[in-house]
This record gives sequence, structure tokens and C-alpha cells, in this order.
Amino acid sequence: MPGFEFFGEKERAEVQDVLDSGVLMRYGFDGVRNNNWKALELEEALTKRMGVNHAQLVSSGTAALTVALASAGIGAGDEVIMPTFTFVASFEAILSVGAVPVLVDVDDTLTLDPVAVANAVNAKTKAVMPVHMCGSMANLRALKTICDKNNLILLEDACQAIGGTYEGKPLGSYGDLGCFSFDYVKTITCGEGGAVITNNETFYKNADHYSDHGHDHIGKDRGAEDHPFLGYNYRISELHAAVGLAQIGRLDEFIAIQKKTYTVLRTALEAIPEVTYRTVPEGGEENYSFLTIFLPTEELTRKAHKALGEAGVDACFYWYDNNWHYYRKWSHLTNLTSLGKVPNEVKEQMPDYSKADFSKSDQWVGRTISCLIKLGWTDEEVKNRAVKMAEAIKSIL
Ligand SMILES: *Cc1c(COP(=O)(O)O)cnc(C)c1O
Repeated sequence: MPGFEFFGEKERAEVQDVLDSGVLMRYGFDGVRNNNWKALELEEALTKRMGVNHAQLVSSGTAALTVALASAGIGAGDEVIMPTFTFVASFEAILSVGAVPVLVDVDDTLTLDPVAVANAVNAKTKAVMPVHMCGSMANLRALKTICDKNNLILLEDACQAIGGTYEGKPLGSYGDLGCFSFDYVKTITCGEGGAVITNNETFYKNADHYSDHGHDHIGKDRGAEDHPFLGYNYRISELHAAVGLAQIGRLDEFIAIQKKTYTVLRTALEAIPEVTYRTVPEGGEENYSFLTIFLPTEELTRKAHKALGEAGVDACFYWYDNNWHYYRKWSHLTNLTSLGKVPNEVKEQMPDYSKADFSKSDQWVGRTISCLIKLGWTDEEVKNRAVKMAEAIKSIL
């Protein structure tokens, strides 16, 4: 997945343009910026590549989720449905706008289970936020049907799945809003950065203003611009955007490399009948940033994970025990451990997750191992890795 592996000439050249002008901010300074508009150019490139009308760059993927929620008018006491398996950014963004994170089970796609989502919808629900974990997607058609029926926003967290598709559409472009992260370890990177994409003009305008203190960006004098509503600062810098501009041009090259490597590794494992694979919903194609497998039991999965590590197969993750990606370790959320007071709505409405039954998620995530696909591996390294992976897993069966 990591685009940082291929940080090179193109990235340096784009950054050098910005350094030469010295204008590190995306707005203003028209006369002295040598016509460098890296953030604007990256937004244009994103809209083109994702087939959407609008893209708003921001400072991180977490900021993108926050801005997307705010842009759709989600606020205090609104409930947002999110999966038990994700990254902590999901509930951080929801809480940051005063809304209530409602966790629901994942299924064999390792993303939101549509049945669990339908059961969790109530009068306070405002949005459903599937997270396309480890390169593959939720059953977006089923989720869209639920959203349409209940008048809910469908917000895709595509931070880990940029370049994947569903029913021919780039992930992130299927829902009302889609979010990407360009942090240092994502498929393409800005160093730090993120983006919101949408076809909804109102949401886009809201995102544009909200991410820059509410500035309406009308006219050429920032001090004279109006502030139609409250905002915040989630701006990206020109330096970061410059890196991303070079990287987006390489996205398809990165995906092709990942697919080739994924196929070699998966072919090696197909010989082991006990190994099965996460379900990719019909009509979907993942971005191949991870190879994600299931073993028959939690015990065997722990053993396989250990054996892989001992065999030197690095970057394989057992998310079930991970502090950042699975609800079991989110004690700070469960206890609402916060530096300051938490809004009353959140305190009163948030379900008691210490008592919640997510055994359905446990059954899948407890048997999951995800192996990161790196871009820099040689063909020889991939071949050796495939042999080692198969041997390590066979050794514990
Ligand atoms: C990385 C990530 C984010 C947050 O992105 P940052 O740019 O690190 O803030 C959100 N959701 C998912 C699924 C991620 O993997």
C-alpha cells in the first residue's frame, strides 16, 4: 500500500516548484506564487480520476471525515452508524462534530453488515459510514438501499481503498460523500493530507468553506471575504499537495503492482484448503493493498500469525488484538475518557459498548490475518514470500 516507497523525482520536482516560489499556502498571494496552485491542481486531478464533480483537499483523512460530516449538516445528537472494525478516526470524526458513534457488526466482507445496519437505524440516525478496510469494500448497493429508504447520508471512508471500484465506480464516488487519506502509509501520500469527494454541490461548498474558517472564497481579498457559517481550519499546505500531485499520477501504476503481487501470493495460498478469503461484494474490485485471509478458528489464526512472524513474513496483521482498529481495545471510547467534558447528547445516547454483543464481528475478525502488499518488492522477493507464507501456514495446520 505505501506510496512513500516510491517517493522520487516527480515528487521532488513538484515540491521544488513550491519551494522556489516560497508560497506555502494554497489560498491567495496570486502575484508571487509563480502560478503554482498545487492544491487546486490535485483537486482537479482527483475529480477527474474519481469521476466526480467536486473534491476538497484537507489536512488529513480524519479531517476529511470530520469535514464531510459537518458539510452534510451532521451535528450534536445525530447518530452515525460505523463498523466495529475500522480505524479510531471513524469515531474521532463523529465525536468531533458532537454526533454519536453507533457501532455495528461487520460480516465476511470485513465491513458493515447491511442487516446489522438496518437493525441499528432509528429516528436519530443521520448517516451510515462504511469503511472500506484493507483495500476492499462494503456491499454499497445494500447500504444505499437502506440509506435511500430512511433518508440517510451514505459516507464512504475509502482511506484504505483508493483505486478500488464498485459497479464500475471508483470507491468514494458511490455514496453521497467519499473520503481519502493521504497520510504517510496510505496507497498514495501527501506526507499528511486527505480529501472529500462528492457530486453534491452544496456539500462541496460547505466543505470548501468549513475547512477554511468559513471563508466563502469570493473575491481576491481574504480579509474581506464573508463567513456565512462557522468553520474551522482543516487546510492542506501547498507543500503537501505538491507531493500528492505527483503521487496521484502514479496511482494506477501502484494498483497494477499491488494486483500482480497479490495474485502471486494468493495463488500460493489457494493450495491450502483451510485458508479462505474475505468476501468482495459482487461488482467490486479491491485495490489489492492487502491480502486478507481467514483461518478456521481463532486459535489457528493466532498460531498462523505467530508462524508468519517467525518465518520472517513481515507486515501481517492480526487486527483482533490491535489497539487502534478493533472495538475490543477501544476502552477510551467505551468509557468516554476525554480531556474535557463530553457533550450530554453523546453521554446520554451512546450505547454501553462494555455490554454490547459483537460476537458476529468477533467470529470474522478473530479469524482474520491481513498481509500488507508493498510496492518495492522484486519479483524474486514476492516469489520467496509466497513460498514462506504457504509453508508457515501449513506448519500450524
Ligand atoms: C488512515 C485512515 C484514516 C485517517 O486518516 P489520517 O490521514 O491518518 O487522519 C481514516 N480511516 C481509515 C480507514 C484509515 O485507514
